[in-house]
Amino acid sequence: MIYADNAATTKMSRTAIDAMLPYLEESFGNPSSLYALGQRAAEALQTARERVAACIGASPKEITFTSGGSEADNQAIRSAAAIGARQGRRHIISTAFEHHAVLHTLSRLEQEGFQVELLPVGPLGTVTADQVAQAIREDTCLVTIMYANNEIGSILPVGEIGAVCREKGVLFHTDAVQAAGHLPIDVKAQNIDLLSLSAHKFHGPKGVGALYARQGVPLANVIEGGAQERGKRAGTENVPGIAGLAAALEESCAHMEETAARVAALRDRLIAGLSQIPHSTLNGDPVHRLPGNVNFCFEGVEGESLLLLLDDREICASSGSACTSGSLDPSHVLLAIGRPHEVAHGSLRLSLCGQNTDADVDAILQAVPEVVDRLRSMSPLWKDKVSGKKAFVL
Ligand SMILES: *Cc1c(COP(=O)(O)O)cnc(C)c1O
Repeated sequence: MIYADNAATTKMSRTAIDAMLPYLEESFGNPSSLYALGQRAAEALQTARERVAACIGASPKEITFTSGGSEADNQAIRSAAAIGARQGRRHIISTAFEHHAVLHTLSRLEQEGFQVELLPVGPLGTVTADQVAQAIREDTCLVTIMYANNEIGSILPVGEIGAVCREKGVLFHTDAVQAAGHLPIDVKAQNIDLLSLSAHKFHGPKGVGALYARQGVPLANVIEGGAQERGKRAGTENVPGIAGLAAALEESCAHMEETAARVAALRDRLIAGLSQIPHSTLNGDPVHRLPGNVNFCFEGVEGESLLLLLDDREICASSGSACTSGSLDPSHVLLAIGRPHEVAHGSLRLSLCGQNTDADVDAILQAVPEVVDRLRSMSPLWKDKVSGKKAFVL
């Protein structure tokens, strides 16, 4: 099997599994309990907090563990909105191609009286710090812009955006779920106030994430209950998951440069090869791009059929994001970069990691052109295009 869907989730690393096992087995205590068994779990939490903080240039007190990236996004945005509301500032700036954990939280806030402005991301799928500076108003309380896009892999200039926000006194949150463990993060140097990350995107376990909140930025509770996480996130902590998150993040960060170089070389071979397919186009920024991300549109092809035929050949890939597949709507990300509906339906995302090989790339480069040909040969619409009765879009 070839696994090329690492943007959806990753396989756990041996290091992460080994870091979790003691807390699933002998050290199973509740970290809030006073006896030694509980205190061993509490120490694991503290160590994990220190390790995560060190990976992103934060201090341990600034890290809150959550159930994943979605919860961290919700809590970050809700917290900034609450601060804004107290000051009478209800304008929020974001982009049209954020993850739904951000976009749907923002829609909710709109219903609650906030004004949300989504910046256009242009054909390459990015925004400039200038665009953000132009959009900031007296009553802006939050800028929330992702570090890297999960579908098309564009990397955004978060350091420059952070500098603009800091200068204008506006809180800056970044959904760094695709960046953490893959790209360098320094919350101080990049002027980031709030940042979300999720373990299962960097070879850690599912269902655990972290929210960084700069000291002095008070978090709003999204889950009420006990006093865990300094009263900011109730519920008995996922100790094994948190230990796994910290181990996976530390491991990814330690090998980041070397992995990125190797994976980017595989990515570039895939991009060069798939570009040979007629009437195809690369989505996303060709230069500022996640090392593992490949995303193409193939005209005249239906994404879901493409995935099923690739699955027959034991290649795991995706079309749109895992969260939107299953719905018939084309990806909001591809629409945001201006792909027409009919083209957006024919998209393929391949996302690689350090475990992928040259042989994987060879097999994908063999399979995709054959599968695209086969689907096109079965399509009446494609026949009309080839015979000149209908125009090509790409
Ligand atoms: C996966 C992902 C999320 C959601 O994270 P979960 O841990 O699955 O809740 C949020 N934002 C981006 C950019 C993602 O890729």
